[in-house]
Amino acid sequence: MRRIAVFPGSFDPFTVGHEGIVRRALVMFDEIIIAVGANALKKSYYSLTTRENMITRVFKDEPRIRIDHYEGLTVDYCRKHGAGFLLRGLRTAADFEFERAIAQVNKTIAPDIESVFILTVPEHASVNSTIVRDIIRSGGDASMFVPSAINLRDYKGDD
Ligand code: ADP
Repeated sequence: MRRIAVFPGSFDPFTVGHEGIVRRALVMFDEIIIAVGANALKKSYYSLTTRENMITRVFKDEPRIRIDHYEGLTVDYCRKHGAGFLLRGLRTAADFEFERAIAQVNKTIAPDIESVFILTVPEHASVNSTIVRDIIRSGGDASMFVPSAINLRDYKGDD
């Protein structure tokens, strides 16, 4: 059976931290779907299409990675796409507590789906999309925090 994982997130924008988690997870799964959450209640800086385009560029040479978006429950999305694993990244104890609650609830409502966590490398532990957005909004250079395939000047955010 193919081992398919979903890596869900806002990715507003996709950072080197996210990229690191996905590349390391490739040894564990046959396919990874990076699923951008379209949350109608949460206003994003980059549009859904822009976020998907950015991520597509990063993995354009990796046939085992698919980019998509979804609305609704993440576990429903996983089932719909035959994914038995939900991939998440961990930076800090705060991430752990947040992720623990979500993963345990997901396990209750969808026992067939396993959450899998990868601990980030120390150099990515303080990389965070909120801070990256603040740098971009303020006209600073955030290029060192996003994958080299993403040229931030090519994308317009919602200022
Ligand atoms: P969400 O809104 O779902 O938290 P994010 O885009 O902020 O979406 O994060 C998606 C996933 O990536 C989460 O599991 C988060 O903990 C993880 N993540 C975010 N930044 C990093 C990083 N620098 N290193 C490792 N994992 C990260």
